Amino acid sequence: MNFSDSEIVASILSEVGYSPTRDMEQAHLILINTCSIREKAEETVRKRLQLFNALKNRNPDMMIGVLGCMAERLKSKFLEEEKLVDMVVGPDAYRDLPNLLSVVEDGDKGINVFLSKEETYADIAPVRLNSNGVTAFISIMRGCDNMCSFCVVPFTRGRERSRDPYSIVAEARDLFDHGYREVTLLGQNVDSYKWEDPDSGRKVNFAHLLERVAGIDPNLRVRFSTSHPKDITDEVLHTIANFENICNYIHLPVQSGSSRILKMMNRTYDREWYMERVEAIRTIIPDCAVSSDIITGFCTETEEDHQETLSMMAWADYSMSYMFYYSERPGTLAARKYEDDVSEEIKKRRLNEVIRLQNHLSLEHNKRDIGKTFKVLIEGNSKKSDDEWKGRNSQNKMIVFPKVGNHQPGDYVYVKITEATSATLLGHPV
Ligand code: SAH
Ligand code: SF4
Repeated sequence: MNFSDSEIVASILSEVGYSPTRDMEQAHLILINTCSIREKAEETVRKRLQLFNALKNRNPDMMIGVLGCMAERLKSKFLEEEKLVDMVVGPDAYRDLPNLLSVVEDGDKGINVFLSKEETYADIAPVRLNSNGVTAFISIMRGCDNMCSFCVVPFTRGRERSRDPYSIVAEARDLFDHGYREVTLLGQNVDSYKWEDPDSGRKVNFAHLLERVAGIDPNLRVRFSTSHPKDITDEVLHTIANFENICNYIHLPVQSGSSRILKMMNRTYDREWYMERVEAIRTIIPDCAVSSDIITGFCTETEEDHQETLSMMAWADYSMSYMFYYSERPGTLAARKYEDDVSEEIKKRRLNEVIRLQNHLSLEHNKRDIGKTFKVLIEGNSKKSDDEWKGRNSQNKMIVFPKVGNHQPGDYVYVKITEATSATLLGHPV
């Protein structure tokens, strides 16, 4: 999400003569895009800002700004108290950046943290940053209307709004025409994507949107994230099954395996509902890999609740998970209603158990792929060697294989898997 925002910001700034540089010393403007989902991120941002300020001491013309989710919460802290930044710009105020830059150039502080009900930046063609020229993200909606009790997103990024489908399809087509072969459609809850044509009144849901993007070209792979267990429909699953180029991979965060904790988290599904959705995935898309987000040590979590999370992970057979221990975020429902009563030691111990189990599950998952042949989209050189390509299969697994034949990034190659670790599959082109 943040990465996609940075690309929108780069586009807005390019209109007023800015271009990206890799050299911090040379930069006239340094912007740091922030996320406040977990507490640790805030500390990291403060440290980075201190580093940038050291550069600014040597180069007083340099401007420093904070963008994104932390803007609202930390505006007074970073701007007034600690004087670490010249500019604070919230996630819906990026269009105001050129104006805020002139405010700063005139010697004032630039600030806009207004959250909009409409802004989707639909008309802005993102400048692709750090691009491999093959895969790209497309933001299809902003904000979130769910109120998961642990989560700060609805407060920092505002109400949910969907971007018009024509601009999404046009962006995907343009990427394809420029050689890209994979797009990932991004939203906090893609299953609640909804758009109504103001003229015809026709409604477009996420399944329709997927179909439109997949229809651009069979050689354009389509991924998406994040699916919400309460909202993912059979219609979406059938659409995935119907299109070879919609990847067989669903990120379906469970957060906890305990129905009691899920209720306190306000996730609005329980263990049984979640399992039913995974069963539907398995029935409708038999080859689909499922991954998850997991939080350990949420308020009141007992050892039994934790065991239910572990058993859910094993049952769902996640190919991968993002795993966190609970960190209370100011202003959230949980911060107001519940005591953060699981000690850090227990949270971390449970997190380690979750990580250990996931590593085991990922390894077993990957080992079952040995001997299979997958269609792999080449993304570039492998991390370790220029003699090897890396790419992903439909299930989003990273596959590394030797360069034989005359392939380029963006080509599809069939690769037979010979070895597996918990993170990567190794193979040979066939
Ligand atoms: N919209 C997505 C999640 C976005 S936030 C969804 O609903 O699944 C990404 C992940 O960060 C969450 O899934 C959750 O696992 C984690 N997270 C969010 N708030 C957290 C908190 N306060 N403490 C720990 N992890 C948190
Ligand atoms: Fe946060 Fe829940 Fe919205 Fe995800 S669905 S962004 S966890 S409130």
